[in-house]
Amino acid sequence: MRLIFLGPPGVGKGTQAEKLSKEYRIPHIATGDMLRTAMAKKTPVGMEAKSYIDAGKLVPDDVIINLVAERLKEPDTSAGYILDGFPRTIKQAEALSKILKENRQGIDRVLYFDLNEEELVKRIAGRRSCPACQKVYHTSFNPPPQEGICSCGTALVQRKDDRPETVKARLVVYRNETSPLIQHYREQGLLSQIDADAGVDDVTGRVKEAVLGKKSS
Ligand code: ADP
Ligand code: AMP
Repeated sequence: MRLIFLGPPGVGKGTQAEKLSKEYRIPHIATGDMLRTAMAKKTPVGMEAKSYIDAGKLVPDDVIINLVAERLKEPDTSAGYILDGFPRTIKQAEALSKILKENRQGIDRVLYFDLNEEELVKRIAGRRSCPACQKVYHTSFNPPPQEGICSCGTALVQRKDDRPETVKARLVVYRNETSPLIQHYREQGLLSQIDADAGVDDVTGRVKEAVLGKKSS
Protein backbone atom coordinates (compact mmCIF):
# COMPACT_ATOMS: atom_id res chain seq x y z
CA MET A 1 0.00 0.00 0.00
CA ARG A 2 1.42 3.36 -1.06
CA LEU A 3 0.09 6.33 0.91
CA ILE A 4 0.82 10.05 0.93
CA PHE A 5 0.24 12.09 4.10
CA LEU A 6 -0.44 15.69 3.13
CA GLY A 7 -1.14 18.68 5.35
CA PRO A 8 0.32 21.69 7.11
CA PRO A 9 3.26 21.52 9.52
CA GLY A 10 2.22 20.36 12.99
CA VAL A 11 -1.05 18.74 11.94
CA GLY A 12 0.06 15.29 13.16
CA LYS A 13 1.23 13.55 9.97
CA GLY A 14 4.37 12.12 11.56
CA THR A 15 2.50 10.94 14.66
CA GLN A 16 -0.06 9.08 12.55
CA ALA A 17 2.51 7.76 10.09
CA GLU A 18 4.58 6.27 12.89
CA LYS A 19 1.55 4.35 14.22
CA LEU A 20 0.29 3.14 10.85
CA SER A 21 3.72 2.17 9.61
CA LYS A 22 3.98 -0.27 12.53
CA GLU A 23 0.49 -1.60 12.03
CA TYR A 24 0.69 -1.98 8.23
CA ARG A 25 4.38 -3.00 8.32
CA ILE A 26 5.43 -0.51 5.68
CA PRO A 27 8.19 2.09 6.09
CA HIS A 28 7.47 5.63 7.19
CA ILE A 29 9.40 7.85 4.80
CA ALA A 30 9.56 11.38 6.18
CA THR A 31 11.65 13.77 4.11
CA GLY A 32 11.96 16.15 7.10
CA ASP A 33 13.50 13.33 9.19
CA MET A 34 15.81 12.33 6.33
CA LEU A 35 17.02 15.93 6.00
CA ARG A 36 17.54 16.34 9.76
CA THR A 37 19.59 13.12 9.82
CA ALA A 38 21.62 14.40 6.85
CA MET A 39 22.18 17.72 8.67
CA ALA A 40 23.32 15.95 11.85
CA LYS A 41 25.77 13.87 9.81
CA LYS A 42 26.88 16.97 7.86
CA THR A 43 26.48 15.18 4.52
CA PRO A 44 26.50 17.38 1.35
CA VAL A 45 22.68 17.20 1.18
CA GLY A 46 22.44 18.11 4.87
CA MET A 47 24.79 21.07 4.46
CA GLU A 48 22.82 22.34 1.46
CA ALA A 49 19.46 21.86 3.18
CA LYS A 50 20.35 23.58 6.47
CA SER A 51 19.90 27.21 5.46
CA TYR A 52 16.52 26.49 3.83
CA ILE A 53 15.21 24.49 6.79
CA ASP A 54 16.38 27.03 9.36
CA ALA A 55 14.60 29.78 7.40
CA GLY A 56 11.38 27.77 7.11
CA LYS A 57 11.72 27.53 3.32
CA LEU A 58 11.45 24.47 1.12
CA VAL A 59 14.63 22.69 0.13
CA PRO A 60 15.03 22.86 -3.69
CA ASP A 61 12.91 20.35 -5.60
CA ASP A 62 15.82 18.62 -7.36
CA VAL A 63 17.56 17.85 -4.03
CA ILE A 64 14.42 16.35 -2.50
CA ILE A 65 13.38 14.48 -5.63
CA ASN A 66 16.79 12.77 -5.82
CA LEU A 67 16.66 11.91 -2.12
CA VAL A 68 13.23 10.29 -2.44
CA ALA A 69 14.02 8.56 -5.74
CA GLU A 70 17.01 6.86 -4.08
CA ARG A 71 15.00 5.95 -0.97
CA LEU A 72 12.26 4.34 -3.06
CA LYS A 73 14.85 2.00 -4.61
CA GLU A 74 15.44 0.37 -1.19
CA PRO A 75 14.02 -3.17 -0.92
CA ASP A 76 11.91 -2.38 2.17
CA THR A 77 9.60 -0.26 -0.02
CA SER A 78 8.45 -3.20 -2.17
CA ALA A 79 5.19 -3.75 -0.23
CA GLY A 80 4.47 -0.03 0.00
CA TYR A 81 5.23 2.97 2.19
CA ILE A 82 3.88 6.10 3.81
CA LEU A 83 5.27 9.31 2.35
CA ASP A 84 5.15 12.03 5.01
CA GLY A 85 6.04 15.56 3.95
CA PHE A 86 6.59 14.62 0.31
CA PRO A 87 5.48 15.75 -2.22
CA ARG A 88 5.30 19.39 -1.13
CA THR A 89 5.14 21.07 -4.55
CA ILE A 90 3.43 20.27 -7.84
CA LYS A 91 6.87 19.64 -9.36
CA GLN A 92 7.60 17.03 -6.69
CA ALA A 93 4.19 15.41 -7.27
CA GLU A 94 4.91 15.17 -10.99
CA ALA A 95 8.35 13.67 -10.35
CA LEU A 96 6.81 11.08 -8.01
CA SER A 97 4.17 10.20 -10.54
CA LYS A 98 6.91 9.67 -13.17
CA ILE A 99 8.90 7.37 -10.85
CA LEU A 100 5.76 5.36 -10.08
CA LYS A 101 4.76 5.08 -13.73
CA GLU A 102 8.23 3.82 -14.66
CA ASN A 103 7.71 1.04 -12.11
CA ARG A 104 4.07 0.45 -13.14
CA GLN A 105 2.92 1.49 -9.70
CA GLY A 106 0.47 4.03 -8.33
CA ILE A 107 -0.53 5.82 -5.16
CA ASP A 108 -3.41 4.14 -3.34
CA ARG A 109 -4.58 7.14 -1.30
CA VAL A 110 -3.62 10.67 -0.32
CA LEU A 111 -4.70 11.58 3.21
CA TYR A 112 -5.11 15.30 3.64
CA PHE A 113 -5.03 16.26 7.34
CA ASP A 114 -6.98 19.42 8.04
CA LEU A 115 -6.69 21.59 11.18
CA ASN A 116 -7.19 25.28 12.00
CA GLU A 117 -4.12 27.49 12.35
CA GLU A 118 -4.63 28.20 16.05
CA GLU A 119 -4.38 24.47 16.89
CA LEU A 120 -1.44 24.01 14.52
CA VAL A 121 0.51 26.70 16.33
CA LYS A 122 -0.25 25.06 19.72
CA ARG A 123 0.86 21.66 18.46
CA ILE A 124 4.10 23.03 17.02
CA ALA A 125 4.89 25.14 20.09
CA GLY A 126 4.76 22.09 22.38
CA ARG A 127 6.47 19.65 20.01
CA ARG A 128 9.61 18.01 21.36
CA SER A 129 11.61 15.67 19.16
CA CYS A 130 14.18 12.99 19.79
CA PRO A 131 17.38 13.74 17.87
CA ALA A 132 18.37 10.03 18.07
CA CYS A 133 15.24 8.01 17.12
CA GLN A 134 13.11 10.91 15.70
CA LYS A 135 10.14 10.10 17.97
CA VAL A 136 7.86 13.07 18.52
CA TYR A 137 6.08 14.16 21.71
CA HIS A 138 4.06 17.12 22.89
CA THR A 139 4.68 18.76 26.27
CA SER A 140 0.96 18.59 27.18
CA PHE A 141 -0.94 16.58 24.52
CA ASN A 142 1.46 13.64 24.25
CA PRO A 143 4.11 13.89 26.98
CA PRO A 144 7.07 11.48 27.22
CA PRO A 145 7.13 8.95 30.09
CA GLN A 146 9.79 11.05 31.84
CA GLU A 147 9.82 14.82 31.34
CA GLY A 148 12.28 15.91 28.66
CA ILE A 149 13.51 12.36 27.96
CA CYS A 150 12.59 10.10 25.02
CA SER A 151 11.59 6.48 25.66
CA CYS A 152 14.96 5.61 24.05
CA GLY A 153 16.73 7.53 26.83
CA THR A 154 17.88 10.56 24.78
CA ALA A 155 17.20 14.16 25.86
CA LEU A 156 14.39 15.69 23.79
CA VAL A 157 14.92 18.93 21.89
CA GLN A 158 12.78 21.64 20.37
CA ARG A 159 13.45 21.87 16.63
CA LYS A 160 15.03 25.19 15.68
CA ASP A 161 12.41 25.63 12.94
CA ASP A 162 9.61 25.14 15.50
CA ARG A 163 10.32 28.54 17.04
CA PRO A 164 7.45 31.01 16.50
CA GLU A 165 9.24 33.30 14.00
CA THR A 166 10.00 30.37 11.65
CA VAL A 167 6.61 28.72 12.10
CA LYS A 168 4.89 31.74 10.54
CA ALA A 169 7.13 31.46 7.46
CA ARG A 170 6.46 27.71 7.19
CA LEU A 171 2.70 28.23 7.27
CA VAL A 172 2.93 30.78 4.45
CA VAL A 173 5.11 28.41 2.42
CA TYR A 174 2.56 25.65 3.01
CA ARG A 175 -0.31 27.83 1.83
CA ASN A 176 1.49 29.03 -1.29
CA GLU A 177 3.46 26.01 -2.43
CA THR A 178 1.95 22.86 -0.88
CA SER A 179 -1.79 23.45 -0.53
CA PRO A 180 -2.31 23.36 -4.36
CA LEU A 181 -1.63 19.61 -4.04
CA ILE A 182 -5.01 19.20 -2.33
CA GLN A 183 -6.82 20.06 -5.55
CA HIS A 184 -4.21 18.21 -7.64
CA TYR A 185 -4.93 14.89 -5.89
CA ARG A 186 -8.65 15.58 -5.48
CA GLU A 187 -8.91 15.83 -9.27
CA GLN A 188 -7.25 12.43 -9.52
CA GLY A 189 -9.87 10.95 -7.17
CA LEU A 190 -7.18 10.00 -4.65
CA LEU A 191 -7.84 12.47 -1.84
CA SER A 192 -9.45 11.71 1.51
CA GLN A 193 -9.82 14.67 3.85
CA ILE A 194 -9.27 13.91 7.54
CA ASP A 195 -10.49 16.22 10.28
CA ALA A 196 -7.38 16.23 12.49
CA ASP A 197 -9.01 18.17 15.33
CA ALA A 198 -9.26 15.19 17.70
CA GLY A 199 -7.05 13.07 19.92
CA VAL A 200 -4.34 10.90 18.35
CA ASP A 201 -6.32 7.64 18.55
CA ASP A 202 -9.49 9.15 17.10
CA VAL A 203 -7.52 10.57 14.19
CA THR A 204 -5.94 7.14 13.61
CA GLY A 205 -9.44 5.64 13.38
CA ARG A 206 -10.40 8.23 10.75
CA VAL A 207 -7.26 7.53 8.74
CA LYS A 208 -7.83 3.78 8.74
CA GLU A 209 -11.44 4.25 7.68
CA ALA A 210 -10.31 6.43 4.77
CA VAL A 211 -7.58 3.99 3.72
CA LEU A 212 -9.84 0.94 3.83
CA GLY A 213 -12.95 2.65 2.50
CA LYS A 214 -11.03 4.52 -0.25
CA LYS A 215 -13.69 7.21 0.05
CA SER A 216 -12.82 10.46 -1.72
CA SER A 217 -13.61 13.85 -0.19
P1 ADP B 1 3.61 16.90 11.48
O1 ADP B 1 4.40 15.63 11.19
O2 ADP B 1 2.37 17.01 10.66
O3 ADP B 1 4.46 18.14 11.42
P2 ADP B 1 3.60 15.88 14.23
O4 ADP B 1 3.12 14.47 14.08
O5 ADP B 1 5.05 16.09 14.50
O6 ADP B 1 3.10 16.79 12.99
O7 ADP B 1 2.72 16.53 15.41
C1 ADP B 1 2.93 17.88 15.82
C2 ADP B 1 2.76 17.97 17.34
O8 ADP B 1 1.39 17.74 17.68
C3 ADP B 1 3.58 16.94 18.13
O9 ADP B 1 4.02 17.57 19.31
C4 ADP B 1 2.58 15.83 18.41
O10 ADP B 1 2.89 15.13 19.63
C5 ADP B 1 1.28 16.61 18.55
N1 ADP B 1 0.10 15.86 18.05
C6 ADP B 1 0.02 15.04 16.99
N2 ADP B 1 -1.24 14.58 16.81
C7 ADP B 1 -1.98 15.17 17.79
C8 ADP B 1 -3.37 15.13 18.16
N3 ADP B 1 -4.23 14.39 17.45
N4 ADP B 1 -3.76 15.85 19.20
C9 ADP B 1 -2.88 16.61 19.91
N5 ADP B 1 -1.58 16.71 19.63
C10 ADP B 1 -1.13 15.99 18.58
P1 AMP C 1 9.02 18.59 8.29
O1 AMP C 1 9.80 17.71 9.21
O2 AMP C 1 8.17 17.80 7.33
O3 AMP C 1 8.25 19.65 9.03
O4 AMP C 1 10.09 19.33 7.37
C1 AMP C 1 11.04 20.22 7.93
C2 AMP C 1 11.68 21.05 6.83
O5 AMP C 1 12.39 20.20 5.91
C3 AMP C 1 10.71 21.84 5.94
O6 AMP C 1 10.34 23.08 6.51
C4 AMP C 1 11.56 22.02 4.68
O7 AMP C 1 12.55 23.03 4.85
C5 AMP C 1 12.29 20.69 4.58
N1 AMP C 1 11.52 19.69 3.77
C6 AMP C 1 10.98 18.54 4.22
N2 AMP C 1 10.36 17.89 3.22
C7 AMP C 1 10.50 18.68 2.11
C8 AMP C 1 10.04 18.58 0.77
N3 AMP C 1 9.30 17.55 0.34
N4 AMP C 1 10.38 19.59 -0.08
C9 AMP C 1 11.12 20.62 0.32
N5 AMP C 1 11.57 20.80 1.57
C10 AMP C 1 11.26 19.83 2.47
